[in-house]
Amino acid sequence: MSPQTPAHGYTTNNVGIPVESDEHSLTVGSDGPILLQDHYLIEKMAQFNRERVPERVVHAKGGGAYGTFEVTGDVTQFTKADFLQPGKRTRMLARFSTVAGEQGSPDTWRDPRGFALKFYTEQGNYDLVGNNTPVFFVRDPQKFQDFIRSQKRRPDNGLRDNDMQWDFWTLSPESAHMVTWLMGDRGIPRTWRHMNGYGSHTYLWVNGGGKRFWVKYHVKTDQGIDFLTQEQADELAGADGDHHRRDLFQAIERGDAPSWTMYVQVMPFEDAPDYRFNPFDLTKVWPHGDYPLIEVGRMTLNENPEDYFVHIEQAAFEPSNLVPGIGPSPDKMLLGRLFSYPDTHRYRIGANYAQLPPNRAEATVRSYAKDGAMRYEPSRAAAPYAPNSYGGPEADTARFGEPAGWATAGEMVREAYTLRSEDDDWGQAGTMVREVLDDAARERLAHNISGHLKNGVTPPVLARALQYWRNVDKELGDQVAHRVNGG
Ligand code: NDP
Repeated sequence: MSPQTPAHGYTTNNVGIPVESDEHSLTVGSDGPILLQDHYLIEKMAQFNRERVPERVVHAKGGGAYGTFEVTGDVTQFTKADFLQPGKRTRMLARFSTVAGEQGSPDTWRDPRGFALKFYTEQGNYDLVGNNTPVFFVRDPQKFQDFIRSQKRRPDNGLRDNDMQWDFWTLSPESAHMVTWLMGDRGIPRTWRHMNGYGSHTYLWVNGGGKRFWVKYHVKTDQGIDFLTQEQADELAGADGDHHRRDLFQAIERGDAPSWTMYVQVMPFEDAPDYRFNPFDLTKVWPHGDYPLIEVGRMTLNENPEDYFVHIEQAAFEPSNLVPGIGPSPDKMLLGRLFSYPDTHRYRIGANYAQLPPNRAEATVRSYAKDGAMRYEPSRAAAPYAPNSYGGPEADTARFGEPAGWATAGEMVREAYTLRSEDDDWGQAGTMVREVLDDAARERLAHNISGHLKNGVTPPVLARALQYWRNVDKELGDQVAHRVNGG
């Protein structure tokens, strides 16, 4: 928007009535009191008071763009999902975000990044709501709210607090793999364009013959991975808190459309029960050596939203938007998210959020939903109930009746996943430190961890944190202890 934008016609109120003035309220004489019948003034003040919707409890600060997903591989043997068939092109929306900070918080705080994708497929919206990390801090949704509270602000003084963060992490050793990611280079991407996305959870794919496969998604940046050091990020947090949002917007505006290549790891359905660790545990990756990456397609983001609030703030992603050929897995975190995402949208932007521009399906909607606040699409059903004898839509069970699921049975319990031979909390984090990072990356990891620990962590929590890192890798733990103790 430029200040020179010429006026296009006369100003009206919200229902098109010409207004008398953009500048002056209706008063009794030029120096007299304002009159209640100045409906336009009241409309302006009232609308302004209601401009904000509640911000997201998590992933509040973000940005995003529209684009296209094009299938470049052939995964027909693994899924019948219509939009993943060879050569298909599908319009899509992506939103990137930090997790713990508020709407105005700096983009360069150390935090995982949300990597949420929405595909407007011919069989309805498919959402892949991932992060820039292939793993997560906890593996049971019972602990999610507690985890987030430990990362947000204290109730007494309203401050974020490293002591709370390390207290929770060290009492939750399943967090070790994710915290290793977070404290390493990937914890502060240089821009959103320079990070990978991961579906993180395991999902179920079903092919045209009804055969089932477990999959994990990897969405790799074509711009190359790049990061900011802690010091660069700290400086940017002051100089340009919107660094990542600005970068994406400007790249697209200058025609430098970023792209990512999507791959999947595919595990045969029958491998899961006997795999050496639980393949549904969100704190673990599947080693590439066991399940190599298979190319699926490329997404390109080339269209900035016309209006940030309308298209990005109101965007509602939900892992429960699964199209035919794709289903959930027994990952407990995923099963929890299937409920919590649509629930938060109903609270934040209302029961009819699926009708808002970024959430509207391009597929024809023939649902029996009706009424509720802010509903503006008329119900197209011939009768507001099913079954009916007035020609309303009927489920095509012959085509879509097979649920994407799996057999299960057992007593109701509150227990952790059954342990398998390689189900420990430290192993994969240690592998990353020893076998993936080079010396310089290990050095930065120790630097970042010790810098964080030196800032307000109390002695008992600090002692646990040093042991936590020795459990990940003895040498790294010793390095961190040395630095924390003034070495
Ligand atoms: P591989 O050597 O095949 O894979 C290691 C992967 O680590 C790379 O392909 C790359 O994946 C990722 N990576 C590279 N540098 C970094 C970094 N600085 N920080 C974080 N990740 C990085 O080994 P495995 O598959 O056997 O996995 C070994 C360890 O690597 C795991 O324990 C895990 O910690 C980590 N890892 C594994 C992934 C997987 O899905 N198997 C994915 C990412 C990390 P990418 O191109 O996706 O970034």
